[in-house]
Amino acid sequence: MSAYLDHAASTPMRPEAIEAMQPWLRDQHANPSGAHRLARQARRALDEARDAVADALGAEPGEVVFTSGGTEADNLAVFGVHDRRGGRLVASAVEHHAVLDPVRARDGRVVGVDGRGVIDLDALASALDDDVTLVSVMLANNEVGSCQPLDDVAALVRRRAPGATLHTDAVQAVSWVDVAGASRPADLVSISAHKFGGPKGVGALVVRRGTPLAPRQVGGGQERERRGGTQDVAGIVAMATAIRLTVDQRAATVERVTQLRDRLADGLRAAIPDVLETAAPDGDRAGLTAGLCHLCIPGIESEALLFLLEQADVSAAAAASCASGAMEPSHVLAAMGIPRDLAFGSLRLSLGWCSTDAEVDLALEVIPPAVARLRRFSSTDRTVAATATDPSVGPSVGQA
Ligand code: PLP
Repeated sequence: MSAYLDHAASTPMRPEAIEAMQPWLRDQHANPSGAHRLARQARRALDEARDAVADALGAEPGEVVFTSGGTEADNLAVFGVHDRRGGRLVASAVEHHAVLDPVRARDGRVVGVDGRGVIDLDALASALDDDVTLVSVMLANNEVGSCQPLDDVAALVRRRAPGATLHTDAVQAVSWVDVAGASRPADLVSISAHKFGGPKGVGALVVRRGTPLAPRQVGGGQERERRGGTQDVAGIVAMATAIRLTVDQRAATVERVTQLRDRLADGLRAAIPDVLETAAPDGDRAGLTAGLCHLCIPGIESEALLFLLEQADVSAAAAASCASGAMEPSHVLAAMGIPRDLAFGSLRLSLGWCSTDAEVDLALEVIPPAVARLRRFSSTDRTVAATATDPSVGPSVGQA
């Protein structure tokens, strides 16, 4: 028995999506930009996929730009607006680094969040003026699961920075939220297929008609000059299949996974009384995505806990990033005001469309004794134990 509790990093592909891409890997190899019958078939497959993605996101097919994933979509949104218009960029402090790093690279401003990871609308209001050309606020956070009030953000932007483009990173939202409705006020919307049952390395940016955007990749003129490069037909077809299924089954999946997540979170809170449920300290999970349970566990280090969990076949994440060997607590937890010591004991358990009761049972069986075992070490012993673990099991350099 094993438990995969890292769906926010990447969720398994849906079998139907794997099936849908086969012909485009095996038999149909033509370039969709070509001029012959086989190329036209590939182009038709792309068009159909574009219709499906547009439909799922409440966009026009011509507004969908296929990319190599969420990072490229976010980079294209931020740099694309700045390259075209200049001006000042504003983002929430809990954005993924694929947004934050480009915003910072252009000297943008970062707006704080409250203890639940929700943007501070007063701080946003004071960051907005006529010089602002882009505001980027995600729909759902990848570490703690907080959903952002995009309608309120959009209303503020319209009032105080009416010329600004609004971007939302919906990468973590597609599985759980009606993105077509929730992202309606945004001009730019990023998604990534491997977060909802499609393949890795495929995503899209919705670019609403009239939105000023310079391309980042130029060359072949694909995607109506907004993103040059031959499209990954197989991956895009699979993404379209996955998003169609995700939307069709979303209500039922959200209901089922919410129950699993609540059982997991309630069980761990009961077994580890001093645990902090990071974005729902009072147990009110209404503002969170269904799949996420993020905890801060006093007196342990995530690295050592992940090692013990892996021994028991439980895959989870710390949601911290480790750059050049120096462990830094996550920027999301820091922005939420979580003390550094507590942030070092963070644990992200994320469920997905195929999560099961048995996986939750295993997590509930394994995590409390692992925490107790780590707490039995003195702080010196803990350091020794952490350094004795295989470095390959520690948090990775990337951020998911
Ligand atoms: N944005 C968010 C919120 C994410 O969770 C991720 C994935 O880790 C990304 C962007 C980057 O997406 P990708 O892995 O497709 O580059």
